[in-house]
Amino acid sequence: MTRVLVVEDEPQLVRALEINLKARRYEVDTALDGATALRLAAAHHPDAILLDLGLPDMDGLDVLRNLRRWIRVPVLVVSARHASDEKIEALDAGADDYVTKPFAIDELLARLRAAIRRAATVTTAEEEVIVTTDEFTVDLAAKKVHRGGHDVRLTPTEWHLLDVLIRNPGRLVSQVQLLQEVWGPSYRTQTNYLRVYMAQLRRKLEANPAHPRHLITEPGMGYRFEK
Ligand code: CA
Repeated sequence: MTRVLVVEDEPQLVRALEINLKARRYEVDTALDGATALRLAAAHHPDAILLDLGLPDMDGLDVLRNLRRWIRVPVLVVSARHASDEKIEALDAGADDYVTKPFAIDELLARLRAAIRRAATVTTAEEEVIVTTDEFTVDLAAKKVHRGGHDVRLTPTEWHLLDVLIRNPGRLVSQVQLLQEVWGPSYRTQTNYLRVYMAQLRRKLEANPAHPRHLITEPGMGYRFEK
């Protein structure tokens, strides 16, 4: 069964969504505020999230940013705000789609199905990803790294950092993006963390850590993974 977390503070709308979703055989969790939403997302691992931006305790965008630090499932933002800036901000913060209130419930459900389908395709593709360099091999699905016929043991933080870089092959990933994704938004200036952890990763993965060929520093900007 597909589990949907509905985050919405208007009780009537929550009821309408719950009835319609359950009628289509979704399992439904409901949260009337942001704190409950974060708690339920962690406890129940929903397959998709409907997120209202206007919540009583926190801004829906902050809920979204928090979720995106550790959750990849589709998030549909539902909002009464019409300004296109808001939509861009929501999409930049990791929303998969945006529905403006008032909406037709059939349209919302169609978009939800589409988002879940897209996510399923992406997940399947990701699960097959094994990245091989001449020095080491990374299995993203199994979360394993092999080098010279042995498993390389990485700490969770090292793994997270490597994972973000490897999923963006050849692309410069900014210091801020890495700090936000791996440590969280309040660490966005702690570039010393990156230096320390990148040095550890290079010691474990590079033939010559002083002259890395796969985990490249772009001074003052960020890091890049090269095969
Ligand atoms: Ca609201």
